Amino acid sequence: MSLSHLAKLSGKELIAAIARDYAGRVAVTSSFGAESAVLLDLVAQVDPSLPVIFLDTDELFDETVQYRAVLEAKLGLTNVIVVRPTDEDRKDAEELWRTDIDRCCELRKVRPLAKAVAGFEALIDGRKRAHGAERDALGTIQLSGGVVKVSPLANWDGDQIEAHFVARDLPRHPLVAQGYRSIGCWPCTRPTKPGESPRAGRWAGSAKTECGIHTAPLGAKD
Ligand code: SF4
Repeated sequence: MSLSHLAKLSGKELIAAIARDYAGRVAVTSSFGAESAVLLDLVAQVDPSLPVIFLDTDELFDETVQYRAVLEAKLGLTNVIVVRPTDEDRKDAEELWRTDIDRCCELRKVRPLAKAVAGFEALIDGRKRAHGAERDALGTIQLSGGVVKVSPLANWDGDQIEAHFVARDLPRHPLVAQGYRSIGCWPCTRPTKPGESPRAGRWAGSAKTECGIHTAPLGAKD
């Protein structure tokens, strides 16, 4: 299928087009983090029954797990799917964030998500260029191993995100008030300081900037 008709779309229009073109073959992935409410609100407006995959690494902040339930109810999402690492992988990853963050992310994030999204031909995520690093040149549509990766908010800046929160009266992740602007697992996330990029608090002090779920060729193949 040609994707050229999608190239100029973003936000809700892009989600609607993908939901139509890939009906039954599209899923959303969400961390239910600091800015996730915006993408999820747009998804809910298009189709609240779209599958939304939430990866619980077993190392999340309690606030994230609670926020997931709050957002799910507020937005009326009816198909949130919680995926977790296997018991064996969780055992192998015990305290691994202290010594090998790449392996820990592989076991707690990439493996379970790979299983969860297998067979889906389009994956919608909340990445944005404004978050910098590998996301600097992010497009709204990318092709990866035959799977269409869709980032409807790729060209949204922080002001647009904030305006959407206000306009739609969206609940905030509880940790945002403590200075967290990008929220992952508790051992690998700290609040950001003034002037830092939103993701500077992720794996701070290491060269790592992505966990791998957006860079690995996940989806379809089934
Ligand atoms: S973000 Fe940290 S704790 Fe979470 S899976 Fe990656 S290394 Fe492990």
